[in-house]
Amino acid sequence: MRENVSELNVGRLEGRHIRAYEPDYEEKINAIFWLMHKETEESREINCHSCGYGSCLEMATAISKGESKIENCIHYMADDQLKISMIDIRNGIPNYNAYLKFTDKLISSGKITEYSAIYFNIINFKQINQKYGFRNGDAALREYCVAVAKMAKAEELIAVVSGNSYVGVVHSERLPEVLKALEEVPVFCLKDPETGKPVSISARVSVYLPDGSDTSPQMMVEKLAAAFEEISRTQNQRICYYDEKIRQKKMREEFITHAIGPAMDAGEFDVYYQPKVDINARKIVGAEALIRWRHEGDMISPAEFIPVCERTGQVQKLDFYVLNTVCRHIRKWVEEGIEVVTISVNFSKHHFIKDTVAEEINDVVETWGIPRECLEIEFTETAYLEDGDNLVSSINKLHSYGLSVSMDDFGTGYSSLSMLQNMSFDTLKLDKSFLENAVGEPRSRAVIGNIIRMAKELEMSVVSEGIETEKELEYMKLMECDIAQGYLFDQPLPHDEFEQRLKQPVYL
Ligand code: C2E
Ligand code: MG
Ligand code: MG
Repeated sequence: MRENVSELNVGRLEGRHIRAYEPDYEEKINAIFWLMHKETEESREINCHSCGYGSCLEMATAISKGESKIENCIHYMADDQLKISMIDIRNGIPNYNAYLKFTDKLISSGKITEYSAIYFNIINFKQINQKYGFRNGDAALREYCVAVAKMAKAEELIAVVSGNSYVGVVHSERLPEVLKALEEVPVFCLKDPETGKPVSISARVSVYLPDGSDTSPQMMVEKLAAAFEEISRTQNQRICYYDEKIRQKKMREEFITHAIGPAMDAGEFDVYYQPKVDINARKIVGAEALIRWRHEGDMISPAEFIPVCERTGQVQKLDFYVLNTVCRHIRKWVEEGIEVVTISVNFSKHHFIKDTVAEEINDVVETWGIPRECLEIEFTETAYLEDGDNLVSSINKLHSYGLSVSMDDFGTGYSSLSMLQNMSFDTLKLDKSFLENAVGEPRSRAVIGNIIRMAKELEMSVVSEGIETEKELEYMKLMECDIAQGYLFDQPLPHDEFEQRLKQPVYL
């Protein structure tokens, strides 16, 4: 039973000459206690003494008499700070901390299974900034923030994470409604110049339906992020549900991330070599070094683990491991009098976040003392998209060190031609996708033929990747391509087999 506050007051507060005689006194004190975030009897018994009063009741009474202020209560203040820490200051809507706290409560109360979790990101916000300017873009973003936060009804929450990404938990039965609303959120501060209507902002959304197995809000966010990653790699998909396939993929990625370091120490990586062959002479003129990972009897493809290592930052170490191995092999072949061809090593775009990669490559070449014409570095055009300036300066430096460079997978990205304009590659590697349905197709013939002519005019040699049949080889010969790489001649070969190939360089 609750004690009568008035009685309590009279008994305990005599020393301070505070008397409780107003009829609404109890209500008033309770209201103050509520402001102090002391709603239970226990919490009113906890007295920190920081306000200078002997008890919380004394303090509350003093406030009711105007003799003290609510701000002097550390409880009130501490909670207020907490509140501030849960609001995005720029937009006044809940932030990530608020999501954590709110979801944590749902998890511990077991109610989380009644909810759906969502994570979303505005599609093409860059274009809004470009079209309407940054100031208008900012205003649109503020309006959008408030609109999406308001989509959360009672006992739901939508919070801003950072920039233009958001996270939320909504009752599962309302999920379709929320997803529909996120398809087009009108912002009234921007008008489409052609239609005069408010501009609509659309979001890409990942969804996770909690099954009660999550022990923290962060675990849920990880699942949302994994599902989001799936759609962020696509052009048109707007919504992605977290499912078993994504879970398996995520687990595989986690396995790769943790296994790579020990695998390197345990010597599980090998370098294979795939010959590049002069189409007319049918003679080996180069080779590409390709990493191979043998783990507990399985061969894990670089197409699977390289993208994971790029995300985790482990790719730098791997690429330098390959470079060192290649240099060691070249040195051995040179010392044994074997005629060596130029070996190309793949370097991930992730090296170009800093511009010292050329120096680091040169240091390795110097350490092994190999002839510089024996080494070429392959880059993909995505390196240009992300860190163009660093790529340009790295290529120039590599040339100044006497090393050659090639552009890999030409034609798969979006910047191929502008890249050729700005950088001097020694070799252009035509991606194998060019070959698909190309043979005998007049349009492909015009495209491939002209690319090869242009490359030659720019003094580049052209390698056609993925040649599997004689027919494809004949076609590339007709297109005046000089060099071919593909299963027709050889698969990527382990060191010893490749060494044999170097000793018998002609394909009969
Ligand atoms: P890439 O650099 O374009 O290498 C060519 C890929 O095509 C290789 O796949 C090769 O085995 C495959 N290939 C060669 N000829 C044929 C053919 O006739 N038909 C078909 N269908 N495929 C052919 P691989 O070895 O699985 O490597 C895949 C990708 O992984 C490479 O593509 C490269 O981007 C990356 N990679 C491989 N090794 C390294 C490395 O040491 N460092 C980095 N950063 N990436 C690497
Ligand atoms: Mg390559
Ligand atoms: Mg390639």
